Amino acid sequence: RRGWIEVVCGSMFSGKTEELIRRLNRAKIARQRVEIFKPALDTRYHDHNVVSHNANSIRSTPVPIAQEMLLLAGACDVVGVDEAQFFDESLVEVCTQLANRGTRVIVAGLDMDFMGKPFGPMPTLMAIAEFVTKVHAVCVCCGELATYSFRIAASDDKILLGETDSYEARCRACFLEGMKEK
Ligand code: ADP
Ligand code: MG
Repeated sequence: RRGWIEVVCGSMFSGKTEELIRRLNRAKIARQRVEIFKPALDTRYHDHNVVSHNANSIRSTPVPIAQEMLLLAGACDVVGVDEAQFFDESLVEVCTQLANRGTRVIVAGLDMDFMGKPFGPMPTLMAIAEFVTKVHAVCVCCGELATYSFRIAASDDKILLGETDSYEARCRACFLEGMKEK
């Protein structure tokens, strides 16, 4: 059995979770053993589900630290990780170990934070992955492809869980415009 790492990245509302669910469902159809993890701090929606903005969902296991996946993913062929940006750098080592022992690892997460800076372990994961897919949202201001998550809520915390009330998908130009007005 060969292992490898796939990364699905992009802004909020770009369809990362949708794409992750699509890949995992196909693995299930191929009768592979699949497990999905997410950081325990991501408590939007249902606790034990990975849910996309168009309400697709799949059962998942919340883990407080990335290392727990090594134990829980024991017999899996495919491991999915959603909201990977919220894990610390140790996620890189965990994904590497899983892939080295023959697991297909699919990691979905935000490539940039609300300031437009690389987010947590994502840039390193993108460097070491065999496959990287960047998905795009639609800019809510102009309809172009959006690559940024613009924060409309007033908060400077790096982590602010929220939805359409706190963030907008924006293209480069409309993101820059919004940052100027802040
Ligand atoms: P992500 O995990 O990247 O945040 P999801 O997979 O949860 O994205 O949601 C993608 C879905 O969000 C799209 O299929 C669409 O129905 C919805 N959506 C809402 N706002 C937007 C937007 N600005 N651009 C694209 N899709 C959007
Ligand atoms: Mg998502």
